[in-house]
Amino acid sequence: MEMVKSIHADIIKDEQDQKQEVYQVSTMTALLDGVYDGDFSLGEIPEHGDFGIGTFNKLDGELIGFDGEFYRLRSDGTATPVKENDKSPFCSLTFFETEIVHRVDRPLTLEQLGEELDEILPSKNVFYAIRMDGAFKKVQTRTVEAQSKPYVPMIEAVQTQPIFNLEHIEGTIAGFRTPQYANGIAVAGYHLHFIDKDRKSGGHVFDFTIENVTIRICKKQIMNLRLPQTEEFFKADLDRADIANDIAEAEGSPEKR
Ligand code: ZN
Repeated sequence: MEMVKSIHADIIKDEQDQKQEVYQVSTMTALLDGVYDGDFSLGEIPEHGDFGIGTFNKLDGELIGFDGEFYRLRSDGTATPVKENDKSPFCSLTFFETEIVHRVDRPLTLEQLGEELDEILPSKNVFYAIRMDGAFKKVQTRTVEAQSKPYVPMIEAVQTQPIFNLEHIEGTIAGFRTPQYANGIAVAGYHLHFIDKDRKSGGHVFDFTIENVTIRICKKQIMNLRLPQTEEFFKADLDRADIANDIAEAEGSPEKR
């Protein structure tokens, strides 16, 4: 009886831990160094989350998922459901459970919203999964184009990225707020992806202006880091001197550089 009890307690503890967990596949520094092929199969997603963002092998599209449904947003402006044998070199997944709800019906930009959320969030030193549903006056996105070998570093790969200015559009933004100290594992600050209401287009979010949205936030106390078991990752040079600048150049809005 004692034995059964303790196994049961362990199972409950594991489930609670997993709800607190961001499952992080590979690192942002690896992407910066051109490690664009990973060994994480998207068929494994349901074990690690029902919500998340990331990219695909060859940087062929942007990943967004919520409510257990995951999509590939491509540079031709299309969105298609992910396939089980798709692979990702970088993604962040979690099980989303709403803890904080915040409604905004004023034209806030990403930066302005960030300042407002800083007043609401209990700490800037933990991770948050963030979901926003509603209408936007504007969403500026990009989707990197599929890369071919030999791969160039991400800063070069993004030079040709198509940028979309979507206006008066309804949809969903999913992503994470990561503490500054974890920059390089993930992207510090807000890393968000967008998909429109019709599930037809979207991408990596540079900026937006809100019209009327509901923001749902879920605090995360655990990061579970899964590193690729590939030659490219093992040999990559990840000891970068100026990670913050490189990440800003690879993932930030071109207008703000
Ligand atoms: Zn992104």
